[in-house]
Amino acid sequence: MTVGVVIAAAGTGTRMGRKENKVLLPLGGRSVLSHSLACFDSIDEVSQVVVVTNAQDQEAITELVARDVVHKQAKVVLGGAERQDSVYLGLKALPQDTKWVMIHDGARPFVTKELVMRALAACREHLAVGVAVRVKDTIKQVRDGLVIDTPDRSQLWAMQTPQVFSFPLILQAHEWAKSEGVLATDDCALIEAMGSPVHVVEGDYANIKITTPEDLPKPRESRIGFGYDVHRLVTGRRLILGGVEIPYEKGLLGHSDADVVTHAVMDALLGAMGLGDIGEHFPDTDPKYEGISSILLLDEVVSIMGQKQLELQNLDITIMAQKPKLATWKRPIKNTLAQKLFVPETAINIKATTTEGLGFVGREEGIAVQVVALLVDLR
Ligand code: MG
Repeated sequence: MTVGVVIAAAGTGTRMGRKENKVLLPLGGRSVLSHSLACFDSIDEVSQVVVVTNAQDQEAITELVARDVVHKQAKVVLGGAERQDSVYLGLKALPQDTKWVMIHDGARPFVTKELVMRALAACREHLAVGVAVRVKDTIKQVRDGLVIDTPDRSQLWAMQTPQVFSFPLILQAHEWAKSEGVLATDDCALIEAMGSPVHVVEGDYANIKITTPEDLPKPRESRIGFGYDVHRLVTGRRLILGGVEIPYEKGLLGHSDADVVTHAVMDALLGAMGLGDIGEHFPDTDPKYEGISSILLLDEVVSIMGQKQLELQNLDITIMAQKPKLATWKRPIKNTLAQKLFVPETAINIKATTTEGLGFVGREEGIAVQVVALLVDLR
């Protein structure tokens, strides 16, 4: 079985609230239309693709078609005033000995090969096939703000595309509709209006039509934060880095356990959330934070992230210390932080460097840490 494809892409997208044709909107690094072009280009049964466009977008769409349809013959033709006129002009552009045609909305980028094959399989027994999904919401018929009817939901289906037809049948239906002045919002309706049967196969809820800007999948918002901290090295204190005690003759001085790594991590996270710094959240004048394990404070910061539905994507930590050597301690620090932050260890990177004997770090007077954190919005 070979089938011609007509893609309706002439809509001006007035419902999108902008002049731009919705099929040209960006989606996943390509345009909305590119996704369905790539789908049909990959299907063996497809012989030819005709894209119907308007004059304003003809050049842009011709370019897309040339780039995205590489295995099939392709044509771009100008449409008419209504979708129905455009589809008719698309049908007329196919070779007149075409046996089967598949009509698809260019604004349905999530069409899949499986869905197309399901519709084509039904054509072994039917001359007109539409893909559709069962309606999940209760549908009301409303006039002047008043409900006049509630149709039985168990019989309601929402039509999608592709719709597949015997070519002579759909051409006849369009010509009949033209002469009778019948207008419909999908092609199956013309077959129905002529009194011929239309078969429905199970569609896909993901196969949505991009009609309003909200329909476009939103890229998740991400937020970056930077943290910096320094603590003085003194004798008689423990050295805690990232919640891990490291054996060394000196430790870091501070009101809490002076865990300089965890402090910089918390500052990076608070910075990404736009929530100031750890000094504001855990003031060192407050006796309850005296000698406290900083990793417990990190729990509080992580809980704020949870409330804001923000998730840590990754952390990059640079520890500047002349001594001690930290190479073997990176793994335990990473492991501790990963557990506290509910992320895999791969989300955390730790770098350790000396400062070649320069500055306060080089003179072994203190340890400095820098952290960059990326948070993503889960909403
Ligand atoms: Mg600090």
